[in-house]
Amino acid sequence: MAIPNDFLNVLINKLGEEHVSVDPLEKLVYAHDLAALPKSVKLLFDTTPDAIVRPESAEHVAEVIRLANEYKIPVIPRGGATWGFGGTVPVRGGVVLDLTGLNRIVHLDEEHGLLTVECGIVWEDIMRFLQKTCWELPVYPSSALSSTVGGWAATGGIGYGSLKHGPFIKNVVKATAVLPDGRAVMLDDNSDPSLSQLFGSEGILCVFTDLTLKLVPKSEAERPFMASFSSLANALMAAQEVLRLTSPHSLVLRTFGFTRTKDYVNPDAYFFGCFTGYKHAVDKYYLTLEEVVNRYRGYLAPEDEAGREWEERFYTLRVKKWGPSILGNEFIIPVPKILDMVGYCWQLGSLARLDVEVEVMFVSRDRALMFQLFLCDERKSIRYLTEAAITKKVLEAAIKAGGKPYGYGLWNFPFMEAAEPEKKRELESLKRALDPQGVLNPGKTIGAELALGLPLPGRLYGMLMDGVWFLRKVV
Ligand SMILES: Cc1cc2nc3c(=O)[nH]c(=O)nc-3n(C[C@H](O)[C@H](O)[C@H](O)COP(=O)(O)OP(=O)(O)OC[C@H]3O[C@@H](n4cnc5c(N)ncnc54)[C@H](O)[C@@H]3O)c2cc1C
Repeated sequence: MAIPNDFLNVLINKLGEEHVSVDPLEKLVYAHDLAALPKSVKLLFDTTPDAIVRPESAEHVAEVIRLANEYKIPVIPRGGATWGFGGTVPVRGGVVLDLTGLNRIVHLDEEHGLLTVECGIVWEDIMRFLQKTCWELPVYPSSALSSTVGGWAATGGIGYGSLKHGPFIKNVVKATAVLPDGRAVMLDDNSDPSLSQLFGSEGILCVFTDLTLKLVPKSEAERPFMASFSSLANALMAAQEVLRLTSPHSLVLRTFGFTRTKDYVNPDAYFFGCFTGYKHAVDKYYLTLEEVVNRYRGYLAPEDEAGREWEERFYTLRVKKWGPSILGNEFIIPVPKILDMVGYCWQLGSLARLDVEVEVMFVSRDRALMFQLFLCDERKSIRYLTEAAITKKVLEAAIKAGGKPYGYGLWNFPFMEAAEPEKKRELESLKRALDPQGVLNPGKTIGAELALGLPLPGRLYGMLMDGVWFLRKVV
């Protein structure tokens, strides 16, 4: 869509020229997120924004949204663009709101361990700031080096530390957000709408502008661990036993290609993680871990090696070098179903002749976040398009197994009806109430829209995916 010059002029007048860009090269960069888009997607969606706006304050955000409402222009919030589900990708042009300029630390309440930050701050900057204090973050995503706090509030909120401290939402006290009509509101458990109603709404219901995070006192001791196993089944049973008998800060299991990057003793599967807390408890847990690893005939890596793996926990995508591209998806899955799901991904991989990598981050004793990556090559565009349909097969199987997609955005929207029908109804009703003009991040999460503003029914999208999956046999 072409946005009216009038709109751009008013925007520039209000925010200043330095905050608005219509540079063609920049528009190309903002037309996608971390995931590589098959070229044919451009036939369905107008992914190129008409302008990029870089607000520096919550007032700027409110100003842009109020104006967009007046002119009915889509506004697409964007943090670090590390979420690969198309949440920051425009579907019919509009304005991409780059929030990374709202990156200040607002206030540290040293006494109560509360930290207020602006939404566009990157997690790593918070970690660096906290080094000088006696507090640390209870939870953070493994994309902490480049993703923003607001981006995590808008998406899943499960990451390192969630096993011990719960999901991100349990560690946020309050937030400030701009609603789709341009009103700035404070959100907590008692507000209307409440923080939990808007948390995880994938940028379709509000723009978070600042958040107050709970911190935890720095741990007295920290002991990373890593163990490799000659079979995935053994690694999985050992991991479950560790979860039953100890209380790790985090526990992540990886298979296949992840091990290709290193010279491990057992190449099939390994897990790593960290015990944190009081020294006596951490040491006791470590002894228990040793017993469990022995029982399942695993190999416990030396502690310096485990320490290195823990340090490198932010580099999940190093497997990309085997690709050169990846087709990934994430879902929450009951722990007893992990083995079947890995087997199924493997089967699909061999059908499509693609290598598969799997990472499982345990969220609790019963549930895990499973991240599967198919290694492929986006430069072979027709083949890549047909391979992209593999993620539909995986999600269908995950839902059947009692799981649910970890996010919806643009690519997973057809699955919400089957996986979380009640959540979908609630989001639809909030969307109608808060954003009747459909200005904020249209065509995502609860339904997609084509470039011309026409709705794309989930079933049609599903049929298209099935069609291209079938085509893979001939290309
Ligand atoms: C290597 C790697 C590791 C990852 N590990 C994890 C992990 O451990 N846990 C996890 O949950 N995810 C993980 N992710 C996915 C992603 O990094 C997270 O979801 C992250 O929190 C997204 O933040 P972002 O700033 O990049 O958001 P973006 O990708 O910019 O945006 C994501 C969505 O949120 C919306 N949005 C962004 N900012 C705001 C805001 N301020 N207000 C309202 N809506 C907003 C956007 O419109 C979009 O729909 C990982 C990704 C990678 C590449």
